[in-house]
Amino acid sequence: MYYIFRCDCGRVLYAKEGVATRKCVCGKTLKVKGRRIFKKVETREEASYAVQKMQDEIYGNTGFIKASDL
Ligand SMILES: [Zn+2]
Repeated sequence: MYYIFRCDCGRVLYAKEGVATRKCVCGKTLKVKGRRIFKKVETREEASYAVQKMQDEIYGNTGFIKASDL
């Protein structure tokens, strides 16, 4: 099982079940248990896909964030 969650910086991350912490590319180390879990998936492929999909929904294809989405 993999958990999908977000860092405070807004990036979407995934962590394997049982992993205590996950380091974001922004440099922050996140405690997986303390995060709000958006989704749970079975495989790493699904986790990777879910992260990509969420990032696309959040940032869109332009790379800009709308103020209304914050
Ligand atoms: Zn981050």
